Amino acid sequence: MEDTVDIKKVYTQTIEAKWLLEKNLRLDVLRLDVIDKIISGNKWFKLKYYLQDAVEKGVETIATFGGAYSNHIIAIAYACKLAGIKSVGIIRGEKPEKLSHTLLMAHEYGMDMHFVSRLAYRNKETIKADFSNVYWVNEGGYGIKGMVGAKEILPLTNDGKSYSHIVCAVGTGTMMAGIIEASNDHQEVIGISVMKGNNELLKNISGLTGKNPGKKYKIIEGYHFGGYAKHPPELIDFMNSTFKKHQLPTDIIYTSKTFYAVEQMILNNTFPPGSKIIMIHSGGLQGNLSLPVNSLCF
Ligand SMILES: *Cc1c(COP(=O)(O)O)cnc(C)c1O
Repeated sequence: MEDTVDIKKVYTQTIEAKWLLEKNLRLDVLRLDVIDKIISGNKWFKLKYYLQDAVEKGVETIATFGGAYSNHIIAIAYACKLAGIKSVGIIRGEKPEKLSHTLLMAHEYGMDMHFVSRLAYRNKETIKADFSNVYWVNEGGYGIKGMVGAKEILPLTNDGKSYSHIVCAVGTGTMMAGIIEASNDHQEVIGISVMKGNNELLKNISGLTGKNPGKKYKIIEGYHFGGYAKHPPELIDFMNSTFKKHQLPTDIIYTSKTFYAVEQMILNNTFPPGSKIIMIHSGGLQGNLSLPVNSLCF
């Protein structure tokens, strides 16, 4: 896998816009999306230590949980294929007549998919009991190993200590936990939740980071555009205009909502003049393939 995913491709893009100049702010984007088309962005960092552990333990099969549009599911399927390990995906919801692009690709990479009802899906331990000799990775890669991998993201920025604010998308909070761990005490880490009301987030994050009294971080709600994976026409328009203005491709689930949130927070004077902000582009572009063709200009 090390051969296909190329971390050296990661770079920092500086956004040029009048609204940044006017507020005397600098906004950079850490482009993790460029490391690989399939395991794009943060999933590579979150999975690497689970995979390493599974290989060291000599397991034959890795199993995990996820929804029909899950970047995590496709990343596991693809990484396992490359590593020569079998993969099992427990997919939330009944099998649809038409599989999402994500699931079609996961199938192509050899993932053995099991569809379970939303109700049954909640009972992960019961599902797990039906499988023996598999290495389980939590939904979304949530866990210490995922956090430890995500600690390697922030050091990829040039002059990382110079940023006053670090902004990232939040699903399970695993990536954010790693970024908090890697941040300096003078920096504030801001997580944009892509879910409608997930009250467990801060608890889940501190469950990975420990107490960390010196660290500053917060979760911002309200930029979910209707809920997880919802992508109304306004969001698609925003993605197209963001690409045209800044040559910045974003995904429908995480990074478009995060970039939108950053823009709005800047316009609302959330950041003191002189702030230097970095947004983590955590990848996920493959999810855009679930849209009707020609929805996006990139
Ligand atoms: C999975 C994912 C996230 C969320 O990461 P968590 O560690 O679960 O919070 C953010 N961005 C993209 C593109 C993702 O695929």
